[in-house]
Amino acid sequence: MKIIVIGAVAGGTSAAAKARRNNDSADIIIYEKDQDISYSGCGLPYFIGDRVSSVMELTPRSPEFFKSKYAIDIKIRHEVLKIDIPTKTISVKNLETGAIFEDHYDKLIISTGAQAFIPPIKGITNEHVFFLRNVQNALKIKSFIVNQRPKSAVVIGSGFIGFEVMENLMACGIRVTMVERAAKLTPNLDEDMSLYLEKLLSNKDLTILKNANVVEITNQGVLLDDGTLIPGEMIIVATGVKPNVSLAQEAGLLLGVTGAIRVDDRMMTIDTDIYACGDCIETWSTITKKPHYRPLGSTANKTGRICGDNITGGNEIYAGNLSTGIFKIFDISVASTGMSETEALKDGYDIEISHNIKPNQPGYLGGRELLIKAIADRATKKILGVQIIGYEGVDKRLDVFVTLITYGATVDQIFNLDLGYAPPFSTTKDPIHYTGMILD
Ligand code: FAD
Repeated sequence: MKIIVIGAVAGGTSAAAKARRNNDSADIIIYEKDQDISYSGCGLPYFIGDRVSSVMELTPRSPEFFKSKYAIDIKIRHEVLKIDIPTKTISVKNLETGAIFEDHYDKLIISTGAQAFIPPIKGITNEHVFFLRNVQNALKIKSFIVNQRPKSAVVIGSGFIGFEVMENLMACGIRVTMVERAAKLTPNLDEDMSLYLEKLLSNKDLTILKNANVVEITNQGVLLDDGTLIPGEMIIVATGVKPNVSLAQEAGLLLGVTGAIRVDDRMMTIDTDIYACGDCIETWSTITKKPHYRPLGSTANKTGRICGDNITGGNEIYAGNLSTGIFKIFDISVASTGMSETEALKDGYDIEISHNIKPNQPGYLGGRELLIKAIADRATKKILGVQIIGYEGVDKRLDVFVTLITYGATVDQIFNLDLGYAPPFSTTKDPIHYTGMILD
């Protein structure tokens, strides 16, 4: 059997490695148009801020590693131009030599990922404008900082990448202004939580502008639609990503309502010999089963593994996701899972909402407040979603709620959770218990 994978970052390499573990005789080949493979995109902001000293730390595995450990052949700088389903062939361009050749597959895995969304803003192609999607983007940003020594920057977009880049530019001594077109920050937060985040950020040395619609990028900075110029010697555009679907679409595979590749719960496309995984696919909500697009490394690794398993005769099933996300900005952690209040109302739920602010551990050990907002369904008493903002211990509470929501827990079950307690870790009644007590 010959398995061809397109794309060698999180989804593609996970799929290929799992396929190899299941099948030690298949020919497995990955075509990757970039020169970097299997890197941690999630670590790129920290490379910019010098917390990761070398980009090599984010790209620990080379094609030689995959060859010797998994007998997987990775061809970098090879772009797949076309998939021909009837003949099960792909055409590939060697980007070094320009040569175009064909290759044949028995099973094909599409893991072409996503690319930065480029908003239609005048001046977006200027040399001091950057996107952060891959290793080469990060190197370009780093080299600009080292060579040009900018003193100011504008980050467009207040999603998690925008915030992570902002923190790391500031670590380089750059003054940063974040501009956000919406009336609130970060897509996963409701407005009340966004205001709380702004309050926590208000004592940091940064500027965040909401309702700020950039219409032009000039050499001086960004121009808003009301004529204000926000100065910035470098501009980072972090306005989301879009799935790379043109290969799949041109081959006749089905896209979902979100525009990403449609797959079933075994990652199979509408062709039984073609599977897909990672940021190029549409997934669905664990709660509502409705399709959505949630391009995250956590999901790319899972769907990659499921893909590799099923393509080699396994039967691993993907259960959907809760859009769980977490990021850090300085000492503040921002987390969310499941539905926001806005989403739940849009979906017609009759909801109960709780907010509780409690310390993560006793005051005598320096406990600091965290705010938990929870959304529950009145009809079933099930928890639908949670947003948490605080300092230490946000991640642990988030993951407890993820588990509760995944297994359909009702609000009356929260208080009885036998969570671990000792002063360095939590309080006798944990903030999670308080959420249950309020909602029940
Ligand atoms: P990609 O990483 O996009 O890889 C797809 C690969 O396919 C690319 O290398 C591309 O060159 C190749 N390709 C495309 N078309 C072709 C073709 N025609 N021929 C050959 N090759 C092709 N996720 C989290 O869960 N948590 C985080 O904290 C987090 N932080 C992030 C921070 C940043 C700055 C970024 C950029 C992303 C972050 N992510 C995070 C998201 C995570 O990195 C992605 O979800 C993950 O990389 C997706 O992996 P993928 O393999 O599906 O796609």
